[in-house]
Amino acid sequence: MSDMSVLAVLEQRTGQWNRMSFETLAAAQQIARELGATVSAAVLGHNMSALANELATRQLEKVYAFEHELLKDYTPDAYTLALEAHIDLFKPAVVLFPHTYQVRDFLPKLATRLGRVAVSDVVAHRVENGTLTLVRQLFQGKVNVDVRFSGDGPHFASLQAGAYRADRVVEGAASIEMMLPYIMPGDVRTRPLEPFREAQQTVDLGAAELIVSVGRGIKEADNIPLIEKLAQALGAELGASRPICDAGWLPMERQVGSSGQTVAPKMYMAIGISGAIQHLVGMKGARTVVAINKDADAPIFEIADYGIVGDLFQVVPALIEALQK
Ligand SMILES: Cc1cc2nc3c(=O)[nH]c(=O)nc-3n(C[C@H](O)[C@H](O)[C@H](O)COP(=O)(O)OP(=O)(O)OC[C@H]3O[C@@H](n4cnc5c(N)ncnc54)[C@H](O)[C@@H]3O)c2cc1C
Repeated sequence: MSDMSVLAVLEQRTGQWNRMSFETLAAAQQIARELGATVSAAVLGHNMSALANELATRQLEKVYAFEHELLKDYTPDAYTLALEAHIDLFKPAVVLFPHTYQVRDFLPKLATRLGRVAVSDVVAHRVENGTLTLVRQLFQGKVNVDVRFSGDGPHFASLQAGAYRADRVVEGAASIEMMLPYIMPGDVRTRPLEPFREAQQTVDLGAAELIVSVGRGIKEADNIPLIEKLAQALGAELGASRPICDAGWLPMERQVGSSGQTVAPKMYMAIGISGAIQHLVGMKGARTVVAINKDADAPIFEIADYGIVGDLFQVVPALIEALQK
């Protein structure tokens, strides 16, 4: 058994996984395999046995379930205390997190407490001669930079949504260790209130198998029914880029991207969408991407499996007609 280990710290809220957790788990398994390291997972909360049991069906060395009344609601103090003591003791070489709002909140504090830096928003990695290189983006995705850690671990990183595929998690068996961290009420300086809830979501694009998504190329609200007709003909859910939802042409819950939903359908069709990084991070987990855009240089074509360079007002009616036949 290797003495080098990778730890994936997963996120849950009221017993529901954040779906990015399993992307992080898949990444951790892959990185551990390439480094010749073992991999374990940690999850924090209260009444953790169901989530821990679920994790124990994945190929992991250990599942660490941190159980405490004061971990029921997220606070940066309690999460940092629990993880700091654990990481200090077990000294994993690499500790990976999903790049969620919560992780952005406490990870810098945790890393600093252990005298380390955290690399945020990682989109890919390489392992060469046993050395891990992380890739992250700068200037709104215009530049990719390689980041390597120096010195001994633990090294901390958070992974951007959609960078790794949750369906690559390897099944297996793991033993569970219930961790009872030492946290006193006086340690926690914030008092969590009812979490902010956006308007109740009625569509779960995250579970959709087919999504037809529309962007600013549609020009005006009156043209949206054309895309709805195509979605209907395909039996697909309707999605949109942010400007469409900002303009109120479709409800916010249909927005795909960094400030909207993260989706991973079998097929994602992007119509009149340029492919800005904030849109791509929400949909690049799709198995097949089809793009229709009149600009052959639109960035969406860089990740598209199939592309049609053309005017959507000609291409979409032709597609609908073909499907209806
Ligand atoms: C903090 C932050 C968060 C953000 N979050 C999100 C998010 O969650 N989701 C999101 O989508 N964006 C998000 N954005 C906005 C993002 O940066 C882009 O502005 C947005 O994705 C662009 O939307 P679009 O592709 O529809 O429009 P545009 O970039 O304007 O692209 C329109 C495309 O349509 C094509 N086109 C025009 N006419 C036709 C035609 N007749 N036929 C075919 N093609 C045509 C054009 O060639 C062009 O490529 C965010 C931005 C910031 C700063």
